[in-house]
Amino acid sequence: MNLNHAVQAPALGKRLLRVAVVGSGPSGFYAAEALLNAPGLAVEVDMFDRLPTPYGLVRGGVAPDHQKIKSVILVYEKVAAKTGFRFFGNIHIGKDLSTEELSLHYDQVVFAVGNETDRRLGIPGEDLTGSRSATEFVGWYNGHPDHHHHQFDLSCDKVAVVGIGNVAMDVTRILAQDPDHLAKTDIADYALDALRKSRVREVFLLGRRGPAQAAFSPTEIKEIGELHSADLVVLPEEAALDDASASLTLEPNDKKNVGYVQERARLGEGTKNKKVRLRFCVSPVEIIGERGRVAAIKIEKNTLIKDDRGNIKAKGAGRFETLPVGMVLRSVGYHGIALPGVPFDAKSGHIPNENGRVIDAQTKKIVPGAYVVGWAKRGPSGLIGTNRADSVATVQAMLEDAVRPASGNAPKKSSQAVVDLLRTKNLRFVTFEDWKALDRLEIESGARKGKIRDKFTVVDEMLSALEAAKKGPAFSA
Ligand code: NAP
Repeated sequence: MNLNHAVQAPALGKRLLRVAVVGSGPSGFYAAEALLNAPGLAVEVDMFDRLPTPYGLVRGGVAPDHQKIKSVILVYEKVAAKTGFRFFGNIHIGKDLSTEELSLHYDQVVFAVGNETDRRLGIPGEDLTGSRSATEFVGWYNGHPDHHHHQFDLSCDKVAVVGIGNVAMDVTRILAQDPDHLAKTDIADYALDALRKSRVREVFLLGRRGPAQAAFSPTEIKEIGELHSADLVVLPEEAALDDASASLTLEPNDKKNVGYVQERARLGEGTKNKKVRLRFCVSPVEIIGERGRVAAIKIEKNTLIKDDRGNIKAKGAGRFETLPVGMVLRSVGYHGIALPGVPFDAKSGHIPNENGRVIDAQTKKIVPGAYVVGWAKRGPSGLIGTNRADSVATVQAMLEDAVRPASGNAPKKSSQAVVDLLRTKNLRFVTFEDWKALDRLEIESGARKGKIRDKFTVVDEMLSALEAAKKGPAFSA
């Protein structure tokens, strides 16, 4: 057993701990896993999600050509199969059920709500037609019900992606690679059609700092460099380390990134049909429009300086360049959305907390029974697996609190009471068994089309399919 991922269960006697987990992405599932695996703990975990489908960004964020990453779902299925676990999909906490109602039914509530929106650049032209967030583009090609209705005009030949994190790598790869490579994945059909008709031939990836500060992982940039359809092009003068970065001892991944982009810079333009032009030390200062649409992006060259804490910062050098592009995708990080009744720090986009215990933003006092995990706790950083140790740490705090008289000793309602409440409110909730029926329908439909999965992209269609399947043989299969 990996001790880093095990919690010490407190002596609660025969008392049953009832926990609500709000959000069914990785951090929510890792919190549920830690609770359900805690030795000697009698616990019931009810997981809520506003969508009928579980798994958060693993379903709606991970790129369709990264199916290996999605196999982490097998771990979550094991958690869902444990005694004491229930899934309530299609229930929006803050709308369908209030956090006050949750606290009447549960000893503890864990918010695993992630960061559902994107950060903005704050430059002129950001709202022009054709200037979009990577979050929307990712949700669109992944068939997320919030994003299936977007239209992306891919009739231009040049696109700028602002930011060089792993999300930027994903959207660039989807734009630059051969759509045939995506056809067998779970990409939404409408997105595959649009990508097949795409005229995009050049993607400018714009990093505001240098190669030593790049946020992409070595594997992700290498994947772009190895595309059959596109050359990764780097300017030698931008791949070279600046004086400030050269004075640092680089982390192993940063060293790998620097070595890789310098190697690419030596290869020049290449001969492939499409180009991914990775630029360093440039910041967008304006998105220029023509007749209300994106026509170009103006960038400023940066110099890098070391601040008092030794961090490398970008500073505009007053030299500008204009890149003619028909679309801009801003990929500068995610941002949280406030949940009614839950403290929120609007600046950072997090739920304020101390080691996972939610604190009131004004009084700085701990809010009894409220906890947070994942990106809502620490911001949009790390890979899927990073969430495991992070959720375990919060669960450890929850179990320490569970033994204290101040927390959770008031008798809570039975596990049936929440079901009755949802029914009284006429709310149609989706159980894990229901989800497995949807899952089967998606896989069967995908098999007929030669795809891994054919996703439902509209909530009403999911619910109708469930109703129909319950009447027919598919549901009982
Ligand atoms: P991220 O890793 O934080 O990258 C954000 C990028 O935006 C950075 O290059 C950042 O530059 C840049 N940026 C921020 N503000 C900017 C501004 N005002 N102007 C220009 N550039 C700006 O965020 P992300 O790409 O959204 O990824 C979120 C998390 O998900 C990360 O932990 C990532 O590794 C993970 N993820 C992983 C995978 C995968 O493993 N395949 C896929 C997708 C996402 P600075 O560095 O200069 O701030």
